[in-house]
Amino acid sequence: MRDSQRSRVYKWEEKLFSDHGLKKSIVNFDECMSLKECNKFASKIWNTYKNKFYRNYTDKLIRVTRVKCSNNNGGRNALAYSGFYSAHRFAKSDTKGRKLYYKKMQLPKWARSKHIIIHEVAHFLCHNDTQHGRDFVGVYMFLLNKYLGFTFRAMQDLAYEMNVDWSMSDSKYLNRAFRQACKPEIDAYVSELKGGK
Ligand SMILES: [Zn+2]
Repeated sequence: MRDSQRSRVYKWEEKLFSDHGLKKSIVNFDECMSLKECNKFASKIWNTYKNKFYRNYTDKLIRVTRVKCSNNNGGRNALAYSGFYSAHRFAKSDTKGRKLYYKKMQLPKWARSKHIIIHEVAHFLCHNDTQHGRDFVGVYMFLLNKYLGFTFRAMQDLAYEMNVDWSMSDSKYLNRAFRQACKPEIDAYVSELKGGK
């Protein structure tokens, strides 16, 4: 399947980041998060939302408990691997006999920031064939709001302007969570209208 809006999503996020005073790439590596911090942040998001927006694996058989970030082979891109990995051949099982797995993220130094990690975790939380399609952008927007406080209004206005398609409606959970998350913004907007200011 063609990843038809990938470059538009890249341009959209770059503009969005710069509007929030963030750069896409870290130039000064002293500003990088440590790999340990990256793992912790990525695992926190993964464990909060795995199998919620979209069903990614069967948790009766395997338990996917964390995200491991690395750049052992020196790749240039940030990359969310679609598979599930076990620590070693004799990987332990939990008390219910489920095997323990992790998600793998390639994360070069330029990408060790919260906003890039959020982009990659959003891939983990969608179906693989979604790529940078509308469902991905929906999840991505939700996470940018949740973890970095970006407003839906700013994200959606810019998406509209830059011809980026987004949707929350293929996932009941996401749709509900989104409505809840944007309620304060809508309330503020409505009272602004009522107050005439
Ligand atoms: Zn991507």
